[in-house]
Amino acid sequence: MPVYRDEAVVLRTHKLGEADRIVTMLTRQHGKVRAVAKGVRRTASKFGARLEPFMVADVQLYEGRSLDVITQAESIGSYGAAIADDYASYTAANAMVETADRVTEAEGSLQQYLLLVGALRSLSRKEHGAALTLDSYLLRALSMAGWAPSFLDCSRCGAAGPHSAVVVQLGGVVCDDCAPQGAPRLDAKTIGLLGALLTGDWEQADASDDSTRSKASGVVAAYTQWHLERGLRSLQHVSRERRETAVPAGADDPEQDWVGTTVERPRASG
Ligand SMILES: [Zn+2]
Repeated sequence: MPVYRDEAVVLRTHKLGEADRIVTMLTRQHGKVRAVAKGVRRTASKFGARLEPFMVADVQLYEGRSLDVITQAESIGSYGAAIADDYASYTAANAMVETADRVTEAEGSLQQYLLLVGALRSLSRKEHGAALTLDSYLLRALSMAGWAPSFLDCSRCGAAGPHSAVVVQLGGVVCDDCAPQGAPRLDAKTIGLLGALLTGDWEQADASDDSTRSKASGVVAAYTQWHLERGLRSLQHVSRERRETAVPAGADDPEQDWVGTTVERPRASG
């Protein structure tokens, strides 16, 4: 049976039978992989300890009939202990792996892998505030998935910024002409921080005050939730359509067209 090797970050695990565990991993080259780790719950297994959430490992697998089987795991980055020691880091890491799991639903990518590993490593070393690290991760993971927000030019018409109205459903800041009536407005410091988190300008992000961070976090949470829920809904809708109609519906069907335009494909991004 074919054997392959890859680097992987563990997103989540769950029990399988008495002694085994199913491990969901985002790999460097093979996208998202669900695989069985056999016997890891039977003893204090070192092998099992390398396959806990947030761990990065060099894994060897063989292709099984339904699920692949992990035969070896060597730790590359054991960020789990440092992350679990700190509640803020732990909750941030959980939100990261859950988001990584969602944005790679259709397909994983090297960029998503590197972004997640980099964010977990930074979190474990406490390089920046945990909430800032999470917010930066979320904005960049969504951008890589095809949902890049704008915090400078109008996200609807492209009019040069800065703008103060923020509408997550429209993709970030919008100019006065595009802003719906009653659109929430944010101060320049908060919008500046959002831009810094998106581009990874840590000098500016680290210098921000708590109140600005908290306002920016609210925007990031709303933006993430809106895109993930919408993304998931549309993906579920597509798979149901595919199951129900063995023959593709007519191209003129507006519902089909809506489905086609709603599922945004990941696009290459640095
Ligand atoms: Zn505009």
